[in-house]
Amino acid sequence: MVWKGSTPKMKRIGVLTSGGDAPGMNAAVRAVVRAAIEAGAEVYAIYEGYKGMIEGGEQIRLMDWNSVGGILHRGGTVIGTARCREFQTRDGRRTAVKNLLLNGIDRLCVIGGDGSLTGANILRQEWSSLVEELVASKAIARKVADAHPHLMIAGLVGSIDNDMVGTDMTIGADTALHRIVEAVDAISSTAASHQRAFVIEVMGRRSGYLALMSALATGAGWCLIPEAPPDVDDWAEKMCEVLAAGRAAGRRQSLVILAEGATDRAGNPITADIVKNVIEERLHEDVRITVLGHVQRGGSPSAFDRNLSTQLGAAAVAELLDGAPDSPSYMMGLKENRIVRVPLMEAVERTHAVNAALNAHDWQTAMELRGRSYKESFRILRTLVRALPHQPVPGRKRLRLAVMTASAPAPGMNTAVRAAVRIGIDRGHHMMAIRNGFQGFIDGEIEEFDWMSVNGFASMGGSELGINRKKPVGKDLYTLARRIEELELDGLLMVGGWSGYEAAMTLYNERANYPAFNIPIVCLPATINNNLPAAEHSVGADTALNSIVDAVGKIKQSAVASKRCFVVEVMGRYCGYLAFMSMLATGAERVYLHEEGITLQDLTRDLDMLIQGFSSGKRLGVMIRNEFANPVYTTTFISDLFEEEGKELFEVRWSVLGHMQQGGDPTPFDRVLATRYAVKCIEYLETEATEGSDGCAVIGLQHGSFGFTSFDDVNRTYDVKLQRPKKQWWMDLRPLGALLAQPEAGFHKNQA
Ligand code: ADP
Repeated sequence: MVWKGSTPKMKRIGVLTSGGDAPGMNAAVRAVVRAAIEAGAEVYAIYEGYKGMIEGGEQIRLMDWNSVGGILHRGGTVIGTARCREFQTRDGRRTAVKNLLLNGIDRLCVIGGDGSLTGANILRQEWSSLVEELVASKAIARKVADAHPHLMIAGLVGSIDNDMVGTDMTIGADTALHRIVEAVDAISSTAASHQRAFVIEVMGRRSGYLALMSALATGAGWCLIPEAPPDVDDWAEKMCEVLAAGRAAGRRQSLVILAEGATDRAGNPITADIVKNVIEERLHEDVRITVLGHVQRGGSPSAFDRNLSTQLGAAAVAELLDGAPDSPSYMMGLKENRIVRVPLMEAVERTHAVNAALNAHDWQTAMELRGRSYKESFRILRTLVRALPHQPVPGRKRLRLAVMTASAPAPGMNTAVRAAVRIGIDRGHHMMAIRNGFQGFIDGEIEEFDWMSVNGFASMGGSELGINRKKPVGKDLYTLARRIEELELDGLLMVGGWSGYEAAMTLYNERANYPAFNIPIVCLPATINNNLPAAEHSVGADTALNSIVDAVGKIKQSAVASKRCFVVEVMGRYCGYLAFMSMLATGAERVYLHEEGITLQDLTRDLDMLIQGFSSGKRLGVMIRNEFANPVYTTTFISDLFEEEGKELFEVRWSVLGHMQQGGDPTPFDRVLATRYAVKCIEYLETEATEGSDGCAVIGLQHGSFGFTSFDDVNRTYDVKLQRPKKQWWMDLRPLGALLAQPEAGFHKNQA
C-alpha cells in the first residue's frame, strides 16, 4: 500500500517565518524549537514560509536541539521567508495541508505580519474541508485524516512597524528603533556642524510608531505621522515657524522625522521631497533628505527583541501543546510587561480597523485604537519639539521645582532631565538644576535652567548635571534646609539609584526637625542595576544590557579558533537582572545569581556539563556571573577551577566588563522611558505643590502602568539590606533561561 502520510506518536509542531523579515525572528524560532523538544514534541522548520509549505519535500525539515544553535544574535531569519501568492488560493492551501499531513504536522507556529497570520487562520478554518478533499482524491489516507482532525495555530507578530493591535511590541520594532536612533544621532552631529536641515524618512507603513518614538528619543525638531496628520492649508507654515524659532533660539540643526505613511488631513501624501521644498523655499536652508530604508530591518537584534521573541516562542509552544485542539487561533503578545495570548482574528480585525479609520480620515479613532501610551507619547512629543515654551498662563502659580541626578551614572539621566526641565518650563514653572547630586545641593551649586539649557541632552550618556553618592547627615541637613528656603523650592525631583533614594528619604524622615523639608519630593528610577523599589524598569538598564550583549558577542567571536569557556562578570550589585537577562539574550550556558547563590555542587555540575559538551564537539562556553553572586566563588575562582579541571579539553578566560556598562548613549527604550517617567514626575510635583500637599513618592512602571508609591510604603516590598525588590518579576523567566541554555534537551533531568 502507498504510504500517504504520517500519524506520529509525538505531537508535531511546524514553525515558519513569513512576510517581511524582522530582527528577532531567529530568537523566536530557537525558542520554539528548544521549548518544543524539551516538552517532548517534534519540531519541523518550514523553510521560506508558505512557499515552502506548498513545495514540501526538503523545505520541511526536522529540527534538533543544535539546529538552532548560534542563531540568536543573527538578524533576519535563518529559515527564510517569502511572500507567496499561491497560498492565497484554495488550491495552494490544499497542497500545503497535504504537505503538513505527510509530515504529521497539525500544530503551527507562524511568525509574521498581519497578512501571514490572516493566512494561517484561513488555513485553520478550511482544514477539515481541505483534508476531506485530499482523502477524496486519495492524496491522503483516511487514517491519517482521522488522526489530525484540527489544525492549531499560535501566531507571533514579526514586524518592525509595531502596527498590531493586541500587543504592546512586535518582534523587530525595538531593533528598528535602535537603527533609526543611531542614524539620527549621527545625522544630527553632521547637521549641527553645517547648520543644515535634514528630512529623515523612516519606515512603518501606515503606522507612525517608529517615527514618533524616534522623534521622542532624538529630540527631533518636527515629526509627521499618519495618525495625526496636519491641516492642509497651514501645516508647512506651522512646521517652518517652529523650525525657524528653533534656529533663533540657538538650535544648530533642524531635523524633521517623517513616517513613510504620512499625509495631510485631506489624505494627500507628504513626501520627503515636499518637506524639503517647503523648508528650502520658506526658510532658505540647505536641506538634505535621508531615506533610511532597509537599514532599519537589518542588523543584530537588540537585547529587548531577543528576550521578547524568546518568551513569545516558548509561550507559543505551551499554547500549541497544552491548548484545546479545536480552540481558535491565538496570537502571543506582550501586554504590560507580561506575555499574553489574544484571539488572533480579533487582533487582526482591530488592526484592520486602524487602517479603515485612516482611510476614512477618522484620525481620532485611529489614535484611540493605537492605545493610551501612543497617544500620551504624541502629546509629550508635541511639547518637547517646541522651540520655545508656551507663555505662562496669567494668574496660575509658577512653581519653583528643582531637578538633580544622584548615585551612579545611568544612561538616560540626561534624557530625563531634559524632559523634566522642558515640561516644567512649558507649564510655566521655574526649573532649578542642582549640580553634583546632594553634595552640590549642600554646596549651593544650583542654577535656573531655560529651554535651551537642555538642548542636545536627549541622546547624551552620563549625567551633564554631574553626580555624587553623598548622603546628607548631621549639619548637611541644616544646610539643605537653608538652601530649600533660600531658593523657595516647591518640589524636588531626584533622578538616580538607591543611594539617591535613601538621601531623598532622609529629608522626608527629618521633617520633624526641619520644616523646610515639607515639600513634595519624587524619585525617578535611574540605575543600570534595575534594582529599585516599585519599578519593573529603571532608566539605564536597557542600555547596559545591550552593552553587555554586544561585549559578549565580541568575546564569543574572539574564540573562534580554540575550545574556550568564558566567565563573564557583570554589574548589578545584589540584583541579578543584568546577569540573567544577558544570559537569556546571549544564549549563555549558565548564570550565577546572588538570588540563588552558588554551591560547590553547582560548580561541579557545571564543570561536568562543560566536559561533556567539549568532549562531544562543543567549541565555546559562556558563563555569566553577577558581581556579588557569592563572596567566595569569585569570577577568578570559578575560572581557575574550570581551567584546572578542563585540562587539555578546553581553556578558560575570565572577563570583568566593568564600567563600560554604565556608559554609552542611551538606547531608544531608555530614552522613551526616561521621558515618560520625567513627565509624570513633574505632573506629580505640580499637583502636590498646587494642592498645598507635600507627598513624597517613588515613580515606577509596574504591569505596564505608571504608579507612585509613597516613601512610607517603599520598605514593604523592598529588601533594603540587599537593595533589591523582595519579589522580582524577571525571576519568573528563570526556568525558561535554564531550559534554553542546556547543551541538549533534558540535560537537567538526566543529571537529576
Ligand atoms: P505580512 O505577513 O508581513 O503582513 P504579507 O501581507 O505579504 O506580509 O503576507 C505574507 C504572506 O502571507 C503572503 O504572501 C501570503 O502567502 C500569505 N497571506 C497574506 N494574506 C493572506 C490571506 N488573506 N489569505 C491567505 N494567505 C495570505
